[in-house]
Amino acid sequence: MPELPEVENVRRGLETLAVGKTVSAIDIRWSKIIVNPDEVFTAGLVGQQITAVDRRGKYLLIRFGEQLTVVSHLRMEGKYEVVAKEAPISKHTHVIFEFTDGQQMRYLDTRKFGRMQLIETGQENTVAGLKDLGPEPTPTTFLKADFYQRLQKHHKAIKPLLLDQKVVTGLGNIYVDETLWLSHIHPETPANVLTRIETDRLHDEIIAELELAINHGGTTVNTFLNAIGHAGAFQEMLHVYGKKGVPCERCGTPIEKIKVAQRGTHFCPKCQIKRDAK
Ligand code: ZN
Repeated sequence: MPELPEVENVRRGLETLAVGKTVSAIDIRWSKIIVNPDEVFTAGLVGQQITAVDRRGKYLLIRFGEQLTVVSHLRMEGKYEVVAKEAPISKHTHVIFEFTDGQQMRYLDTRKFGRMQLIETGQENTVAGLKDLGPEPTPTTFLKADFYQRLQKHHKAIKPLLLDQKVVTGLGNIYVDETLWLSHIHPETPANVLTRIETDRLHDEIIAELELAINHGGTTVNTFLNAIGHAGAFQEMLHVYGKKGVPCERCGTPIEKIKVAQRGTHFCPKCQIKRDAK
């Protein structure tokens, strides 16, 4: 599943390739991808120009004109490409936005789990999944004191809390394992046991890790490619994810893999000591 860094790279790709183009037609080949009735989606967007591509968490917000936004979630396998209309169309292409300049923005999705919803710009909080998102992992929106306070209110394990996107948005399974290893925190540590020093460190590692991943194009898990077609190079920089049995880079102890909240979880049993509830 694409995580925040991959989605940010798709956003950057679309910003470069699609902003400024005007829609002349839309071909919906798999109707379930579109949350709205097909004719509402098409009638709303034909004639509109793409003015910006924003992102909130793992949702792309494609702005059309001043008033309309398509909220696009890639889910497991969704991706975009912007190509000339003559380019061969893969059988996994489900939505085609045709532009007046002869190019097309195509949405491809082998598993068909992705969704697009046309809304009025400003109504983002009406979309299920968007309204409960925590702050973006940047220094100006994600604040150390708030993070500590939020974690103090939870006695559940830190890993599932970071995965649920309400305390901070953008961390999927890979990046949670990585940031917890970088912060020397066992994934099953109850959140309210963490000290302010530990949550400050974790906060900084989350921001740094996602920034690094974005700048390296994200990880190339499964068949994900970003919009400009570059495979992510970040996978080579992972410390624990997918490294069961490999010696820890810090201490040499073999990395272990366990299940935490039904998710495969990698950690170093020596660097990340489990602590009990208060
Ligand atoms: Zn270690």
